[in-house]
Amino acid sequence: MCQGLSLRNVGIKLIDIGCKKIIYEDFGEMLFTHFGVSGPTILSGSAHLLHYSNLEEKLAKQQILLQIDLKPALNDEKLDARLLRDFQENKNKQFKNSLGALLPQKIIEVVMIKSKINPEKKVNEITKEERKNLVSAVKQFTLTISGFRDIEEAIITSGGIDTKEINPKTMESKIIKGLFFAGEIIDVDAYTGGFNLQIAYSTGVTAGKS
Ligand SMILES: Cc1cc2nc3c(=O)[nH]c(=O)nc-3n(C[C@H](O)[C@H](O)[C@H](O)COP(=O)(O)OP(=O)(O)OC[C@H]3O[C@@H](n4cnc5c(N)ncnc54)[C@H](O)[C@@H]3O)c2cc1C
Repeated sequence: MCQGLSLRNVGIKLIDIGCKKIIYEDFGEMLFTHFGVSGPTILSGSAHLLHYSNLEEKLAKQQILLQIDLKPALNDEKLDARLLRDFQENKNKQFKNSLGALLPQKIIEVVMIKSKINPEKKVNEITKEERKNLVSAVKQFTLTISGFRDIEEAIITSGGIDTKEINPKTMESKIIKGLFFAGEIIDVDAYTGGFNLQIAYSTGVTAGKS
């Protein structure tokens, strides 16, 4: 339903519900794809999740959740007040036609399902309790993480030649004379946003000149 939807200024949390631990928290952009979710915050979260202990087992138990805050600028009270205002302005409308000003069209149906409010209901009949569920559906929009995409689709790879085995002034191997390393083959990885390209360029120039 949400495929192709790109969101800006959302909060994301990766949560281990087994031990109620927040594994990763971020704010920024994400998108819904044909396979699940992606985008800068998701890629950064994915990098953190990769090193989380007993991950395979926890994923299999559906214990790792992605919680998206679709309105991070509003706390629960402010969002509730905003909903009341929107409902006041649309009092004779059905619930399913009342969220257009608050949320992108593509996500409205899913939020409605998560709120468990009857979409046909008139907004002036929505109870305080139902509004509370709606606030949760917007601020704690939750998905279960089932796994990662294949290595072929990876944007950045972690692992590789240990930096301790490379002379940083020349990028030459400390073990094999005359062998130089640059870019992804080195065990360094950074968030998206140009850092990995910078690593590739800088190490490439250094190795080339040496
Ligand atoms: C879709 C995508 C988006 C990305 N976006 C970003 C981003 O926004 N910001 C960022 O910082 N990083 C980004 N990256 C990561 C970044 O592109 C890489 O970190 C960087 O290009 C690594 O450079 P490299 O020279 O080490 O390796 P590569 O760019 O992978 O170059 C390796 C080259 O070696 C060639 N090759 C492989 N095997 C052989 C062989 N046996 N003989 C001869 N040639 C061979 C390959 O064809 C390739 O041309 C992105 C990567 C992908 C895939």
